[in-house]
Amino acid sequence: MLTGIWEEFLTIAREEAGSRVVETWFKAVTLQRWDALNKIIYLQAPNHFVCDWVQSTYGILLQEQLGRLFNVVKPKVVITSSTQKVEQHVVTSVSSTIVQAPVSLETMHSHKLAPQKQTGFGNKNYRFSTFVVGPSNALAYAAAQAVAQNPGYVYNPLFLFGGSGLGKTHLLHAIGHEIQTNAPKAIILYQSIDRFVTEFISAIRFDRVHKFREKYKSVDLLLLDDIQFIANKEQTQEVFFHIFNTLYETKKQIVFSSDTFPENIQGLAERLRSRLSWGLVADIYAPSLETKIAIIKKKADYNAEYVPDEVASFIASYVVSNVRELEGALIRVMAFSALTSQPVTVELAKKVLMRSTESHSHLVDFDSVIRCLSKHYPYSLEELRSKNRGKDLANVRQIAMFLMKKVTGKSLRDVGHFLGGRDHSTVMHAVGCIERRALADHAFGELLRRIEQDVMRS
Ligand code: ADP
Ligand code: MG
Repeated sequence: MLTGIWEEFLTIAREEAGSRVVETWFKAVTLQRWDALNKIIYLQAPNHFVCDWVQSTYGILLQEQLGRLFNVVKPKVVITSSTQKVEQHVVTSVSSTIVQAPVSLETMHSHKLAPQKQTGFGNKNYRFSTFVVGPSNALAYAAAQAVAQNPGYVYNPLFLFGGSGLGKTHLLHAIGHEIQTNAPKAIILYQSIDRFVTEFISAIRFDRVHKFREKYKSVDLLLLDDIQFIANKEQTQEVFFHIFNTLYETKKQIVFSSDTFPENIQGLAERLRSRLSWGLVADIYAPSLETKIAIIKKKADYNAEYVPDEVASFIASYVVSNVRELEGALIRVMAFSALTSQPVTVELAKKVLMRSTESHSHLVDFDSVIRCLSKHYPYSLEELRSKNRGKDLANVRQIAMFLMKKVTGKSLRDVGHFLGGRDHSTVMHAVGCIERRALADHAFGELLRRIEQDVMRS
């Protein structure tokens, strides 16, 4: 049960802070114990270094998100360092035919610390057989299957487009698994754009750009996840452009996923933009109620858990659109029922979910925040996105980050990305600053509340 909650936390942390942070830090940590009576969560880190770093850098994230998962407000999070000897294995790839991306120094480090566990393309659960098909994803599913049956020939590239948590990564992996089964010798490479960028940067640093290019040009199938993050990265776009051309000309299949339509990816070179949509762009929409119920049922079956129909419908109607959140909601309900030895009922589900999602009830988008802010402050979106750090502008930028994080339900990373490609830690810092200031300065707190109400009404 604790493992389930920790996995769930890792998923959230990946959203909030990016997968590199998760791979480097959280994968090395385990959830040891939950003291419900005193509201204390015990974590264990493999050494003092990790322990201190995680505590000081991610203490708030841990407290907030684990609190949400355990359904308590502001639990105490205690991290201790383990005295046991840690296994010193560097994880190698699961299968010899799947080229695991070379890990950066940081990831390498964490792999050494972490218990052996494969991530990335190793997700065995992301298969066609575990994917629930409904009207919202039927096109993407059919296209993915067609590509898996006939790589390089039907839709090349295939561009899977849909909101966060709707199954894009799942389908990318499913294509990979299927092709690997059909053609065990095929060289398959799954990579998130984040990792692609990191790898490219280290290739530049160590003078291995040629090797880097060769590696990507020699694959039979390239699965690139979250391509929207290539926005504004000119050099990466340049190198990718050449890789794309080579693969395309040699009829090697390329599959992209993105939460942004090619037309709307900012700072994308025109020639690359057009190539992204050369093949088929398949949309994934938010699932219907029936599909959501089917996903819950399948997920419960898979874990050999029983979920009464009315509870499945309740959870399905409660979580609006994101399948990841749907799974998270199910896990929370099941965990809470097990931890408190209460039967899984609608009342219980209500109790667990109402609290954890109340702040997410009516979500607004980034643009509404910007619109409302512009009524109070004289800055344009361009200025907020710029590198200009003039004191007043920087202050308004922090307010924008705070409000966006608070009312849109988006991750730190998304907010940073929207505001000029800034890092998640910058956003986290801004949120902290504004919170403290609002507490200390009453007038400022009031102003903030007024703007927030204004945003919520917009
Ligand atoms: P995305 O990459 O679009 O953000 P993911 O592929 O990571 O989303 O999906 C989030 C979670 O929801 C994963 O655990 C995935 O297995 C699950 N999921 C999404 N869509 C479906 C579906 N149609 N059937 C079964 N599981 C799904
Ligand atoms: Mg994904």
